[in-house]
Amino acid sequence: MNQAAPLYEGKAKKVFATENPAEYVVQYKDDATAFNAQKRGQWAGKGATNNAITAHLYPLLEGAGIPTHFIERLSETEQRVKAVKIVPVEVIVRNLAAGSFSKRLGVDEGAALERPVVEYCYKSDALGDPLINTDTAVALGWASEADLARIRELALQVRDFLVPYFQQRGVTLVDFKLEFGKLPDGEIVLADEISPDTCRFWDMATGERLDKDRFRRDLGGEAEAYAEMLKRVTQEV
Ligand code: UDP
Repeated sequence: MNQAAPLYEGKAKKVFATENPAEYVVQYKDDATAFNAQKRGQWAGKGATNNAITAHLYPLLEGAGIPTHFIERLSETEQRVKAVKIVPVEVIVRNLAAGSFSKRLGVDEGAALERPVVEYCYKSDALGDPLINTDTAVALGWASEADLARIRELALQVRDFLVPYFQQRGVTLVDFKLEFGKLPDGEIVLADEISPDTCRFWDMATGERLDKDRFRRDLGGEAEAYAEMLKRVTQEV
């Protein structure tokens, strides 16, 4: 089944069709990219770690009432998911200023925000994932007004679950990126990964970065940081 050509190959994952048209298999790769794939690298165990972190969190999110595409982890690097049509809008939720937000607005990294910020980007590597607003997404037919309202609501529910979850494990969730998909019946569900590739995680005690910024900013120790995040995520508190 997995020997077939992928339906889709992204920077860090491959998606395979299965004999069941309602399900896909997602395979996590060891490849890392940053700055819209201008910087490339890889390390052993990255795919397995991101698969394990995502597979741990998704059932917890389902338990918190957030519908997702996740079905089950199949192997070290693979998971079975519901086939969805991905909405081509990346949803970024920010709890503290960092990264492109800090740069764009001249705000120090780590600065507090009076309320969480939800941003939308058009999912296009060729264009560098440009920032958009919801009018743009509706005008270009990527999602309806109702879909976007639901996406925002779910993104904030994910935040409300994850912030205390990580805080209890000694980690500040600074910001994160989500993607959503549509089931054939039109229901919007959370899709894609939640991992150190897609979240900024700062150690609450030391401020150490435990996420892809280690790779983006050439800080080193990325494999150790990802392994530490898997340990924290799966830690009983
Ligand atoms: N992010 C992501 N994929 C992207 C862009 C951003 O997963 O294509 C995540 C990133 O890891 C961070 C958050 O979204 O946790 C906010 O990223 P930001 O806009 O600050 O961009 P960056 O500084 O990564 O360019």
